[in-house]
Amino acid sequence: MSEQVVVRFAPSPTGYLHIGGARTAIYNWLFARKMGGKFILRIEDTDVERSTEEAIQGIIDGLRWLGINWDEGPYFQSQFIHEHVAAAQRLLEQGDAYKCFCTKEELEKKRQEALKRKTSVLYDGACRNLTPEQVAQKEDAGLPYTIRLKVPRDGASVRFTDVVYGTIEKKDQDLEDFVIVRSNGRPLYVLSNTVDDIRDGITHVIRGQDGLANTPKQILIYKALGAPIPTFAHMPLTLDPKRAKISKRRHGEIVAVHFYKEKGFLPWALVNFLVLLGWSTPDSKQIFSKEELIEAFSLEGINRANSIFDVRKDDPKFFTDPKAISINAHYIRNMPLEELEPYVREHLQKGGLWKEEFAHTQREWFLKTVDMLRARYHLLTDFVTLGRPYFSDDFEMEPKALKKNILKHPKLKEWFPILADRLEQLDQFELEGVEKAIRGLAEELGVKAGVLINGVRTAVTGQAVGPGLFEILVCLGRERVVRRLRDAVKLFEKSDSGV
Ligand code: GLU
Repeated sequence: MSEQVVVRFAPSPTGYLHIGGARTAIYNWLFARKMGGKFILRIEDTDVERSTEEAIQGIIDGLRWLGINWDEGPYFQSQFIHEHVAAAQRLLEQGDAYKCFCTKEELEKKRQEALKRKTSVLYDGACRNLTPEQVAQKEDAGLPYTIRLKVPRDGASVRFTDVVYGTIEKKDQDLEDFVIVRSNGRPLYVLSNTVDDIRDGITHVIRGQDGLANTPKQILIYKALGAPIPTFAHMPLTLDPKRAKISKRRHGEIVAVHFYKEKGFLPWALVNFLVLLGWSTPDSKQIFSKEELIEAFSLEGINRANSIFDVRKDDPKFFTDPKAISINAHYIRNMPLEELEPYVREHLQKGGLWKEEFAHTQREWFLKTVDMLRARYHLLTDFVTLGRPYFSDDFEMEPKALKKNILKHPKLKEWFPILADRLEQLDQFELEGVEKAIRGLAEELGVKAGVLINGVRTAVTGQAVGPGLFEILVCLGRERVVRRLRDAVKLFEKSDSGV
């Protein structure tokens, strides 16, 4: 039996969960699920100055919202510092690390000289061969020291095969004896991260491309500690269309997972989109259910090329990558209605449009209305903005629609009340009868049905576009339609007095 796959997502809680981090978490999670393995959440909070409680909570909330569930954790790196220090101690005892008494000033001076001579600026190993007596003497004198890993100087290079980037080789002359514990006794990140991965039994390190530079150093630590070396898979970067790296600093909220939640994304739609940012199947399939994605996912399918996230901060139409929006629309339109219901409810609640009846006496109506509207919507927030006239009587007329469909046709002032009367008198307020009433009136009046249809649509919804008018009317119900048609007459008064 082969060993169980164990992976982890190890974010540093220095800011909100952003789409790059979420993508890394998703790849780890998918790989664990695919392989029947274990997925651990480990918060790397050892950078005390930059880690915050708020960021930790944000990461946890973000992952939960996306539906990325972990099997163990969250563990907190800060609780294991004693293990990191103990590992450094062991390396010292084994002779795989040494104490370095060089001061910052000395090191800087050497660096400047090397720059001037155009020779290597790497640490020259001045303390590597101190005798035990020399070390004891310096320690007795109270000199501070860092601990450095003793990079084997046997001419062999560090080689490993990254699943995404292929074979990577680092020659030993390009690797200095790097610091693993600072002079204040705090372990460095390369050490902590490695010791944690060893303890957690991580078999595959799947992380951002920025981890690639640390990997040769980490492999040397694994070797020195006699631990098996995991498989590494580094994710390519995510760039904006101008080829700049996506970052909180440069792009702001648009790269935050919580922003997508607020803007009306379904969590699975965002997962689906993020997975495709750097991974694909040979047939370029775009829409995946959870089961399909777990089945199809492989680390080998991750593209080495950097992926482009089409941020559109300044585009009034698409606030983000149009592909993300179209995937979200796909799910809104096609997912089972009962699964969509709680998301619409959540947004209506936030928008102050939710009524408890929608879940009880009016549930059938509510679901039918959501079903009718969703065919045209892209975001859950559309139910609050464009959907407002369906869930509330307090809605605004879109100025353009008002002008084009109502005010341009002053005769509507007379026609709306006639239509209202006729609709009031219908035996049944259903599609066929409503359509007949409207088309019949247009014919009698000798006007194009379109004029009446467009006018009525705007009178009852404030909008110029939407589902089929007769469907809209039946959905709104006789009482509301009649009232809105009669109210629409006042629109002319306002505009008369306005000119
Ligand atoms: N804490 C690191 C980060 O947030 C993760 C590095 C790793 O996954 O090994 O960038």
